[in-house]
Amino acid sequence: MKRTRTKIVATLGPATSNANQISKLFDSGVDIFRMNFSHGTAADHRKLYQAIRSVENDKKRPIAIIADLQGPKLRLGTFENGEVSLMSGQSFQFDMDPTPGNETRAPLLHKEIFKAISADDILLVNDGRMRFKVTAVSPASMAVTALTSGVLSNRKGVNLPGAFLPISALTNKDRKDLTLALELGVDWIALSFVQGPQDVADLRKLVQKKAGIISKLEKPLAIEHLDAIMDLTDAVMVARGDLGVEMPPEVVPVLQKEIIAKARRKGKPVIVATQMLESMIENPAPTRAEASDVATAVYDGTDAVMLSGETAVGQYPVETVSMMEKIIRRVERSPSWRDLLAAGQRQPENTTADAIMAAAHMAADTINAAAIVTYTSSGSTAFRAARERPIERIIGMTPNLSTARRLALVWGITVCMTEDAQNMDDMVTKAVEAVKREGVAKQGDRIVVTAGIPFGSPGKTNLIRIARVE
Ligand code: PGA
Ligand code: MN
Repeated sequence: MKRTRTKIVATLGPATSNANQISKLFDSGVDIFRMNFSHGTAADHRKLYQAIRSVENDKKRPIAIIADLQGPKLRLGTFENGEVSLMSGQSFQFDMDPTPGNETRAPLLHKEIFKAISADDILLVNDGRMRFKVTAVSPASMAVTALTSGVLSNRKGVNLPGAFLPISALTNKDRKDLTLALELGVDWIALSFVQGPQDVADLRKLVQKKAGIISKLEKPLAIEHLDAIMDLTDAVMVARGDLGVEMPPEVVPVLQKEIIAKARRKGKPVIVATQMLESMIENPAPTRAEASDVATAVYDGTDAVMLSGETAVGQYPVETVSMMEKIIRRVERSPSWRDLLAAGQRQPENTTADAIMAAAHMAADTINAAAIVTYTSSGSTAFRAARERPIERIIGMTPNLSTARRLALVWGITVCMTEDAQNMDDMVTKAVEAVKREGVAKQGDRIVVTAGIPFGSPGKTNLIRIARVE
């Protein structure tokens, strides 16, 4: 199967935790698997990681694995009876007392909140379903008025859209999870609830070059600091779940477009996440609106679209991936998609790699090349090739397994493991073999090859060669 240019991320969970299920998801179009560290034990993570790698081994195709760290997700404590019902207008209290809650109060055991919040701020519970207005705050409690009627129950999530919390995006649990994830060898680390560039810098110190960093954009503060975050991170995720709680829903589509545009300009991969085919958790077919949502992200040129509950706990994980793949494939066949890609073309930056990639793109268009073949050792040249969003297939050739895996997330890249070219002839021979093997070119087609001389030295892309497939 020739895979789509737009990549698919699937979150694994109880519905999809063994190699057999993972293998089916891969066959249906998944390029990247996301391990959600909000759930499960170290032993679970280890097992899941091994299952993905065993599938990778079977399929002989590099697969990217994302470890998604929970981050400082705020949660209520528990209730005497598991839940309470509140009426709009009712007074209520959140406090630092761990005693289970009742009709008048509930535990909220995050002391930072009481420092960060002030009267008239809004506090949201359960993905924004319950809204409260803060009326008074002391160091260990706050008085609130319910703005909605509804139910509060054990451990529901809490959001404070306006407040800056003086906490790191890395909790103690995240640090432990990170150690495990790096030890296992994941390719990408996703950082939740990033508030500013410092969060990314802190993570970078721990991760160094062992994995790429995906900053999850799900807070208004991250949007304010988008440029600075974008400069430090390796990739971003439009985390529409929490973003849509912290900001009004009508803002999310606008931000999505702006974030994709910015990420493309910088050449950093971007993932659009959450509720893409949500109704397929329970139904074998999506709504029309969901199909349009996936298509819109593809038209905008996102690197990847993501499934969460649909594949982690849904009843139709394989069907959902197939549906997503079909929607992507259909868009990528349409002339309007080609036009939009061309219209969204970015100016090359002032680097040798960009000069080569812009020239390779133009050469490929001019001669109707079947593919652009890019030798890359760190992957950075392939990122720049993808930034061009060429209509031709991009084959990323690398001797480096971790580069190959990481590139699975990047728009349009088909990765091939290869040894470094020995000389010019060998470079062409290997490239021709790869495009034939991938079925993207046949005899008589032309391909554009980029590489760096001396061969095998990273960051040295400096040559374009046009070759004919014999
Ligand atoms: P989550 O992140 O699924 O880890 O919450 C994605 C989102 O908030 O959209
Ligand atoms: Mn989230």
